[in-house]
Amino acid sequence: MIDFTFTEEQEMFRKAAREFAETKLAPQVAEMEKTGEVSDAVVKALGEAEMMAITIPEEYGGLGLGYTERLIALEEISRVSVATAMMLQVFALGIEPIVKFGSEELKHKYLPGLASGKRLATTAVTEATGGSDPTGIKSAYTKDGDTFIVNGRKCFITNSHLADTITILAKADDNPKAFCAFVIDKDMPGWKPTHKEHKVGMRGCNTGELSFEDLKIGPEQLLGEEGKGLRVTMAAIGDVGRGGMVGTALGLQAACIEESIKFANQRILYGKPISALQTIQNKIAEMKIDLEAGRLLGYRAAAIQDVGGRSSNEFAVAKYYTTEAAQKAAKMAVDIHGGYGCMEEYPVSRFWRDSAVLGPSAGTSDIMKVIIARWAMS
Ligand SMILES: Cc1cc2nc3c(=O)[nH]c(=O)nc-3n(C[C@H](O)[C@H](O)[C@H](O)COP(=O)(O)OP(=O)(O)OC[C@H]3O[C@@H](n4cnc5c(N)ncnc54)[C@H](O)[C@@H]3O)c2cc1C
Repeated sequence: MIDFTFTEEQEMFRKAAREFAETKLAPQVAEMEKTGEVSDAVVKALGEAEMMAITIPEEYGGLGLGYTERLIALEEISRVSVATAMMLQVFALGIEPIVKFGSEELKHKYLPGLASGKRLATTAVTEATGGSDPTGIKSAYTKDGDTFIVNGRKCFITNSHLADTITILAKADDNPKAFCAFVIDKDMPGWKPTHKEHKVGMRGCNTGELSFEDLKIGPEQLLGEEGKGLRVTMAAIGDVGRGGMVGTALGLQAACIEESIKFANQRILYGKPISALQTIQNKIAEMKIDLEAGRLLGYRAAAIQDVGGRSSNEFAVAKYYTTEAAQKAAKMAVDIHGGYGCMEEYPVSRFWRDSAVLGPSAGTSDIMKVIIARWAMS
């Protein structure tokens, strides 16, 4: 039997996530847009509301909930603040390799602090020489006995200046096929955040660079097997990164529809609200079709993972579909607003800028098509 309904608990969780977003996040959005900085109040609120704890197992201080609940939370948060959803989605991306590939010792060391929001996570894979092609990274490790020594630089890292617990990928300096994934933390000398980016959208989400200079990492910090780290980071991006972008895109689509309907009901032309115009209704219908289809794709992929399956291919389809649809929805929402859509006091102008940033994160649409074609032809 295929059950397309949420459980009562999941409906209650959505209600709580919506209330959290509307009461704790909404008041901070304008300030984050103005300053382009992450709001401390938002980070604190996310921790207090246990939003970082969703998929962390209960034995390590988490809520032990599933990918479905994570999607629900991201959708509700993104509906109010796309920037905050992005920040939260990458926290989880940093946590996942520890949950899936970390030793018991690493799990006990990091997960309780991450679940409570005392520690903040990210994942650092991308470099100037390797985004779509992670094998092109230049950050390299040498070995001194058991100790790994890492040098290099990462770019476009979400939460770069916020995170104190980071999963990183580095390449063996003597073997282009060997990669290691490590978890590093703020108590380890030899790494620091450097340049901060100024993005066109998601302004309340921090993105920047990290540099590693003779960063010494003990073997106990390894995630997965030595030499097989590419699998560790790619699994997290496939299972959690893509899904996170789906939740973020769905929330933005919902916000585009709501703001469009609100404006269209208020804007009077020819003596009646423009919501009476078929052209406007068509745009709203198109946005709604995309949102409903995207939800089916996204929640199906999450449901597969929740029963122990792998759905990185299904998430590639959902990621492609929803992030493209969110960009379309944001443009239509701006169009419905006429000239007002270009004015910053209308949220749709923010949605438009935010939608432009959805594409590359966790893999571009081109890369999603590469993955989907490989799946279709396998
Ligand atoms: C806001 C934001 C947050 C991010 N956060 C993180 C993070 O926290 N951690 C992290 O590690 N990375 C992060 N990234 C990096 C992101 O994963 C990369 O930007 C993305 O993978 C694309 O890599 P690139 O920017 O180097 O583009 P490139 O790989 O240089 O791509 C350039 C163009 O070539 C196309 N292309 C590349 N390969 C193919 C192919 N095989 N077939 C067809 N077309 C192709 C691409 O689609 C694109 O159009 C973030 C990026 C952004 C924008």
